[in-house]
Amino acid sequence: MEKTNYNTIDRLAHGDVLSRDEWMVLLTSLNADEREYLRAKAAETAVAHYGKGVFVRALIEISSYCKNNCYYCGIRASNRDAQRYRLSKEEILECCKEADSLGFNTFVMQGGEDPKQTDEWVADVVKTIRAAYPDKAITLSVGERSAEAYAAFKEAGADRFLLRHETRNDEHYMQLHPEMMSSENRRECLFTLKRLGFQTGSGMMIGSPGQTDEHLYEDIRFLEELQPQMIGIGPFLPATNTPFEKQSPGSADKTILMLSLLRLRFPTVLLPATTALATLCPDGMERAILAGANVVMPNVSPVEQRKKYSIYDNKKSTGAESAQQMQQLEDRLNAIGYHINYARGDFKN
Ligand code: SAH
Repeated sequence: MEKTNYNTIDRLAHGDVLSRDEWMVLLTSLNADEREYLRAKAAETAVAHYGKGVFVRALIEISSYCKNNCYYCGIRASNRDAQRYRLSKEEILECCKEADSLGFNTFVMQGGEDPKQTDEWVADVVKTIRAAYPDKAITLSVGERSAEAYAAFKEAGADRFLLRHETRNDEHYMQLHPEMMSSENRRECLFTLKRLGFQTGSGMMIGSPGQTDEHLYEDIRFLEELQPQMIGIGPFLPATNTPFEKQSPGSADKTILMLSLLRLRFPTVLLPATTALATLCPDGMERAILAGANVVMPNVSPVEQRKKYSIYDNKKSTGAESAQQMQQLEDRLNAIGYHINYARGDFKN
């Protein structure tokens, strides 16, 4: 039988192991019709496993202080112009209360690596939330910490952890981060989180400076090895006052292609339509869901702080990106035949 790109897409959808060459073709050489075929297959796969309900997570951005200096990130330590805030435990609990009243069953606490939000402090916050909301899912995204700290977070009641590997390629990692950060440590953290029983999320930006299709291939291979329960991907977007402020943003089409490939390779993974994609294009959320994404993370941070968590320019935190506007989210999902699913949305095999 003649080997076409349609065959390759079908084989991916059937769970066949693809060669490196086949992956490179999928990453670089599909024409518009083939991409559309791939997208439809990916959407079908998501619906087969999760139906047309899209899980929602309440995103609480707990601090814009960070000790790190990732070249892409707007809240990097060296950015003197970044506006800084950190939420207190009480403020975080207020956000949880608000999220609960809006119907959310997952709280995600994400922040810079704020030295004042120590391991003990994070564990204590988790413990307090766990006591107040025994049935909610608690997700943390507070960067690289020690294995002991991760164990303490788990013990305190956290269920999930998001830590993107950013890029599997060591040289590329060094183009994106200063010397004191390492790709290896990041991976080590991810394997520790998995071992501790966290539902673990990894992922990467699409179109970050220096990224090649080979790097994306290596990212897919790494994700196969890690077997994360969640994969977060969004376009790189330039942030003012960072070394990458003049770089071009990643492409929406490439992000959509990657979402579909990841959906087919990891059929049951939890795959968010990210804020970065929604920031890059107005219909980014819909396009992501129609390409296999099945999660959105509306922002429930205090409104007066939202602008300050500026990891890239013009980051969206209104409309469907805001927890206070769930009707707008529901309407937009309905318009494409989907709806909000308020359940915890745990990973299922
Ligand atoms: N400090 C936490 C949270 C980081 S913000 C951690 O290290 O995990 C979450 C993600 O946003 C990052 O992992 C990165 O992939 C993404 N991000 C940061 N800056 C970005 C930018 N300029 N454009 C697009 N995504 C960005």
